[in-house]
Amino acid sequence: MKYLKFKNSNEQVPIGKIVCVGRNYAEHAKELGNEIPEFPLIFLKPASNVIFSGEDVIHPNYSNDLHHEVELVLYIDREIKNADNKSAEDAIGGYTIGLDMTLRDLQFELKKKGEPWTLAKCFDTAAVLSEVVLKSDYILKGDENISLTVNGNTRQNSDLSKMIFTPVEIVKYISAKMKLEKGDLIFTGTPEGVGRVVPGDRISGSIENIAKISTQISK
Ligand code: ZN
Repeated sequence: MKYLKFKNSNEQVPIGKIVCVGRNYAEHAKELGNEIPEFPLIFLKPASNVIFSGEDVIHPNYSNDLHHEVELVLYIDREIKNADNKSAEDAIGGYTIGLDMTLRDLQFELKKKGEPWTLAKCFDTAAVLSEVVLKSDYILKGDENISLTVNGNTRQNSDLSKMIFTPVEIVKYISAKMKLEKGDLIFTGTPEGVGRVVPGDRISGSIENIAKISTQISK
């Protein structure tokens, strides 16, 4: 079982389900040749995929196109179902930064065949997390800078106001389809600039006022 790490708290919270939103920045949807969605597009990752900042991402040997996606991650701190705006906001207990590591070559093949993205999105080390910043320490403004570098070169640089669906809209939407529980995480989608990484590359990411993250790709 994997446990969350918090800034300024020693609470032991096991990681529940990880719900991810795809295509939540218009420029990123465009760069992959996708339409801008009418509703959040969601998929899941298992908690066993999680590693923390400072640990290595292990490049699966069955892909030649491992991509980085830097994302704002929401921490859910209570059970909710069919949330309204207020209960959705209240259920977001804090925030962190995450990397949704993706096997883009497999994803394109699976999309072409109309099959689920599971194997492109779920592999050991596919979800990299940093410490959760609780709302008692920081309330999201919604226009914080989000960025990622590979070997010191900027690849992704945007701000959270460019998200198509806001955190509250995402929590409302997901909770209308499946209940959310304490320890669940929501990856809210990545801005444009995703790209390939290979063994030896060093990734650093940052969301202004929230957290930094770093990892190295290894074989
Ligand atoms: Zn993503």
